[in-house]
Amino acid sequence: MLRVENLSSSYKTIDGDVHVLNNVNFTVNDNEIFGIAGESGCGKTTLLNSLYDIIEYPLVVDSGRVVLEGTKNGNHFSYATGEIRKTWWNNISYVPQAAQSVLNPIVRVKTQFLDSIPKEDRKKETPAQTLERVALYLKELSLSPDVLEAYPFQLSGGMRQRAIIALATFMAPNLVLADEPTTALDVVVQKGILMMLMRLQKQLKNSLIIVSHDMGVHYQITNRMAIMYSGSIAELGPTEAIFNDPIHPYTTMLVGALPRVGEDIQRVGIAGRPPALKNPPPGCRFAPRCPRATDRCRKEVPEFREVRPGRFAACHLLNE
Ligand code: SF4
Repeated sequence: MLRVENLSSSYKTIDGDVHVLNNVNFTVNDNEIFGIAGESGCGKTTLLNSLYDIIEYPLVVDSGRVVLEGTKNGNHFSYATGEIRKTWWNNISYVPQAAQSVLNPIVRVKTQFLDSIPKEDRKKETPAQTLERVALYLKELSLSPDVLEAYPFQLSGGMRQRAIIALATFMAPNLVLADEPTTALDVVVQKGILMMLMRLQKQLKNSLIIVSHDMGVHYQITNRMAIMYSGSIAELGPTEAIFNDPIHPYTTMLVGALPRVGEDIQRVGIAGRPPALKNPPPGCRFAPRCPRATDRCRKEVPEFREVRPGRFAACHLLNE
């Protein structure tokens, strides 16, 4: 469904380039929920923007590409970086970070739905017919069609988030990208949003990429996941394996720091901070925080490779 090949991106600043993505490689399969986790500033949102083809200066793709491929209505499609935006809504859609603030507060929700329909599809029916279909779709998602007549400021944060997800999935895209879809919502609403995303993915039989710094979100809904650190993928594999048998030292420490239900022992966080992307250390970027770092780690960048079937990681220790 999606191939990311050797993707490296940087922000051009007057003080020099800030390399925000470094040689990122992964694939997302048909009919799966893929998670991307990592600390703030590790490049998660830039990666998602690159997948959605929102690459605007000062962000520049230095090398590599993203390829979106699939079948819709019996037709095969294939789009690479620079063309993916032609397929927005129909084949790929995006639930951005702080999505609750994305809707124009003074435009009725129904108008925002109509505006999101690609031009060619708009010609196939009248606005009234489209809105009839939207109302039916909202009902399927247990949302009242009354939402369509509302202005976004009249809806709660949870309702706005549900409306955005409905908007992003109305055209039944093959791939949905969701950036921190549960952030800033209370726990009960979070749960409802996660259930809605899972249900939609099952119903549409499409793929979902979910970016979240919350490991609990990944544990609950993703099939496979990538752990990012300082602009690169440290580890990638089935979610169950990442949580129960992590292989990269960063993932091991990250998972080890998570609280467990019923335990009253104090968990230890990872000492130190991620490096500044403008001036990262040579070699493995995790070396200054890694208890297993060697001289080699401080000089050579570890290769991201398949170290076991379906398990990928970038660590010199795993190559030995
Ligand atoms: Fe630690 Fe070295 Fe592996 Fe980096 S390459 S995670 S520093 S052991």
